[in-house]
Amino acid sequence: MTQDAEDVPVVYLHDISRSYLQGASTLTILDGARLALWAGQSVALVAPSGSGKSTLLHIAGLLESPDSGEVYIAGTPTSGLSDGDRTQIRRTEIGFVYQSHRLLPEFTALENVMLPQMIRGLKKSETVQRAKEILAYLGLGERITHRPAELSGGEQQRVAIARAVANAPRILLADEPTGNLDPHTADHVFHALMQLVRATQVAMLIATHNMDLAARMDRRVSIENGHVVELD
Ligand code: ADP
Ligand code: MG
Repeated sequence: MTQDAEDVPVVYLHDISRSYLQGASTLTILDGARLALWAGQSVALVAPSGSGKSTLLHIAGLLESPDSGEVYIAGTPTSGLSDGDRTQIRRTEIGFVYQSHRLLPEFTALENVMLPQMIRGLKKSETVQRAKEILAYLGLGERITHRPAELSGGEQQRVAIARAVANAPRILLADEPTGNLDPHTADHVFHALMQLVRATQVAMLIATHNMDLAARMDRRVSIENGHVVELD
């Protein structure tokens, strides 16, 4: 069945449950959670520490499997896919940004952004071209030969964002991406993320404690009793 892409969420989490064993007891984190993410929409995930934000992002990003429920990526169920197919979707459709930049320290900004494209099998000349474009777009055109240690915290995080979108994903997941930054720098990094949503129509889900930033996004959700709830 073919469907108009506009009618299908880029990500749909359907009745997702996830528990962890904690010693002899079971800790239920997600319990029938549902969430739809749409192209071009920014969604803030605002919930206290330990409530399951990272778990939800990892499941949406196919980094972790739920105990039950289904993750649909652009309408396609993913639970029956092989590890190889899941990895392929992660590489091409999903970008991830963490609280710490997780850039490779021995590589330049440019090389860090080239790598995901090279892993995908693109020609080196193409990856150089695209990495330069993205870094310039995020205001880092003068920093491409710098290694992470030679960049400020905000610059490191913008390189990490550039790396996350290097393969033009449809989904951008960010786990407290401004959590380590001062307010001014956090604002700058947030602006870079929002700019990408507008320019590329990526669907973005950001876990954040920053209510000012959450207020500037299209939608706000939280996790309560294992369910995703809409705020406002
Ligand atoms: P948040 O990102 O909102 O702080 P997490 O999703 O990281 O929350 O974690 C939710 C809860 O699940 C926490 O209590 C955490 O300790 C627990 N948890 C997360 N991952 C694991 C794991 N791999 N094994 C056991 N418990 C875990
Ligand atoms: Mg977390």
